[in-house]
Amino acid sequence: MNISENLKQVLVELPAGVRLVAVSKFHPNEAIEEAYSAGQRIFGESKVQEMTTKYESLPKDIEWHFIGHLQTNKIKYMVPYVAMIHGIDSYKLLTEVNKQAAKVNRVIKCLIQLHIAQEETKFGFSAEECREMLAAGEWKHLDNVQICGLMGMASNTDDTEQIDREFCSLNKLFKELKETYFPESDNFCELSMGMSHDYHQAIAEGSTLVRVGSKIFGERNY
Ligand SMILES: *Cc1c(COP(=O)(O)O)cnc(C)c1O
Repeated sequence: MNISENLKQVLVELPAGVRLVAVSKFHPNEAIEEAYSAGQRIFGESKVQEMTTKYESLPKDIEWHFIGHLQTNKIKYMVPYVAMIHGIDSYKLLTEVNKQAAKVNRVIKCLIQLHIAQEETKFGFSAEECREMLAAGEWKHLDNVQICGLMGMASNTDDTEQIDREFCSLNKLFKELKETYFPESDNFCELSMGMSHDYHQAIAEGSTLVRVGSKIFGERNY
């Protein structure tokens, strides 16, 4: 496993405007350091405690993106340093992030997670729930979070047409919401979609942030 080679292979194929979140969950600091030495600065983690431990011992110019399912009681540990939270799957969670971020005087970038896959197990809003939340408008009073876009995970399937349809529907919703609720703002600009097995498709459907783990770091030992 040559992490810097894998990283370069992914990076050369990324079009302008698409950034890589190197998903380092379950991999040790040494693996992150190797990618860091090759120039990577954005890393994604799915457990707050693991991410915080890594944050404390690794270079401070790393941008930590939280991509997992977030529990309310863990938010306070990461608000001092987290760069972006990808998995906002309820309005209540957004208000909790806002509350904790206010305590450390930060504005935290958040992505709303949409449920686009067929599987029952993936978290997130439905398109309708997301529209309702934004239409209600209460989020505008949350001064310590900034809604920067949407995140979604496609079905885990070999049916590439289905994956295309799911990414395409997320991009459509993104454009609709941008036009309706963020017409004057440049902040709503991120579409986080695509993992090791489907990021090429995600890019073709408009992704701006791909979350790639195993293709760079190898298989994870859970
Ligand atoms: C683990 C994970 C990834 C990375 O998956 P790979 O298949 O290893 O690229 C991307 N997004 C989320 C939300 C994840 O939990």
